[in-house]
Amino acid sequence: MKSKSVIVIGAGIGGIVAATHLAQHGIKVTVIEKNSRAGGRCDRISREGHHFDTGPTLFVMPLLYEAEFRALGTSVHEMLDLRRVDPTYHLVFDDGSQLTLTSDMKSMQKQLETFESGSFQGLLRYLNEGHRHYHLGMEKLVNRDFRKASEFFTFHHLPLLYQLKPFVNHYGNMSAYFDDPRLKAAFTFQDVYMGLSPFEAPATFSMMPYTELAHGVWYPRGGLYRVVEALMELGREAGVEFVFNSHVERIDTNSAHARGVVLSDGQRLESDAVLANADLPYVYKDLLPDKNLAESLSRKRFSCSVISFFWGLDKTYERLGPHTLFLASDYRENFERIIRDLSLPDNPSLYIHAPARLDPSMSPRGQDTLIAIVPVGHISANREQNWAELRDEARQHVFRRLASLGIIDLESHIKFETTFMPPSWRKRYNLMKGSTHGLCHNLTQLGFFRPRNRHPRYHNLYFAGASTHPGTGMPTALVSGRLSAQRIMDDFQIQSGAAC
Ligand SMILES: Cc1cc2nc3c(=O)[nH]c(=O)nc-3n(C[C@H](O)[C@H](O)[C@H](O)COP(=O)(O)OP(=O)(O)OC[C@H]3O[C@@H](n4cnc5c(N)ncnc54)[C@H](O)[C@@H]3O)c2cc1C
Repeated sequence: MKSKSVIVIGAGIGGIVAATHLAQHGIKVTVIEKNSRAGGRCDRISREGHHFDTGPTLFVMPLLYEAEFRALGTSVHEMLDLRRVDPTYHLVFDDGSQLTLTSDMKSMQKQLETFESGSFQGLLRYLNEGHRHYHLGMEKLVNRDFRKASEFFTFHHLPLLYQLKPFVNHYGNMSAYFDDPRLKAAFTFQDVYMGLSPFEAPATFSMMPYTELAHGVWYPRGGLYRVVEALMELGREAGVEFVFNSHVERIDTNSAHARGVVLSDGQRLESDAVLANADLPYVYKDLLPDKNLAESLSRKRFSCSVISFFWGLDKTYERLGPHTLFLASDYRENFERIIRDLSLPDNPSLYIHAPARLDPSMSPRGQDTLIAIVPVGHISANREQNWAELRDEARQHVFRRLASLGIIDLESHIKFETTFMPPSWRKRYNLMKGSTHGLCHNLTQLGFFRPRNRHPRYHNLYFAGASTHPGTGMPTALVSGRLSAQRIMDDFQIQSGAAC
């Protein structure tokens, strides 16, 4: 029997993983990627011996990586040289106080009690809740897809309504554990990874600070791009064909099916199924004919964006830990400016990553490689935003924050600078509105309500990636790729009557 064929649009993490699963099951898979390299948002810039992970810098949720690499027939620990990053973050508050997040509970107790008496007990209770949210969330919501409404709206899910606290506001929920606003911020800022403000995120997301402390934040030697390289190795071993520098112009459809894709050079490629890993709202808008569906998707809520600075420095800044976070005291105002006003706060919280603290090979000896990330609103559909002005403001905020740690000479030690802004994210990876994390993760865009991994009309068109189920992040992209591949394999079995 002739083997089935699948075209995958995009070599992001979800695309590579889906392609690899399919190829491992005998399916002929071609991945078409518009850029010259794989990885999508998990990208890499190298210059003069400085290496920058331009997207993800945090390897979190290691249990998901372990499970997903196992599902690909290997071990994440064999493929990557992983080391645990502990302390995870150095938090710096506006009043000059600092908190070092670590899994060393003795140190946490000592530090927390200086912020607020009795708060360590609060942390233990909060982690207990995070433990429940993490394990229930993974089992019931993340690790499975919902092909029918009845799979989601089931009697068995009813207890989740109180077990996962989906209707309780995350920040509000913190009052049960801490009074000090700095501590409330220290254990909710991770919501921004979901594209949400803690003032609107469900308390379910306490799973993030929990997993960071309990399972750890890790770092693969060679940087986060090593994950992409490892996945590419598996894909190529399985026989996936990767085509780079090739832009899909549209998905070729008839009334009920996808027939293949048309490339920007006019070439038409046919396949039994198409899997789009490119950002889902972009796929609907630019690659498919139905403009109503595209319109309704573009009206959904999108996560924020970021302005990122990549600096090659001629001096080492040893005092900067690997992950430093400056958390603004006007915490609520920060999120409102970003999410409601689509702008830059007057006093933004921001993040600095110094990869050479974790792996000296990320920078030439005696020099440094720094990444500064400043969250900002995504591109507005209604008004012009002055990105050059916002970039310059964000840059000054980074220098001001570093000066508060006594680092006052950084600007004069910059050998070169590269900047990514919302229009750069849109152009480089076709991310709608330049939103770095895609559709956000509010209640009406989660679980069954998140766009599913198969098109409602074209039954052989599938999706994987951040804006689909289960959502944003590298480990969830691994899950998304597997779930989507599974769906294709199930459908092929039904159509062909034989296992692929
Ligand atoms: C700044 C930033 C920081 C982040 N930090 C973290 C972190 O610390 N930890 C973490 O786990 N996650 C993080 N993430 C999120 C994580 O990177 C993403 O959720 C994940 O990589 C998305 O993978 P994906 O499968 O959706 O594919 P994508 O990365 O979206 O890749 C899709 C691919 O499709 C290609 N493509 C698009 N259109 C076409 C076309 N027409 N033809 C051909 N190819 C096309 C694109 O070029 C791209 O390569 C971060 C993301 C960003 C941007």
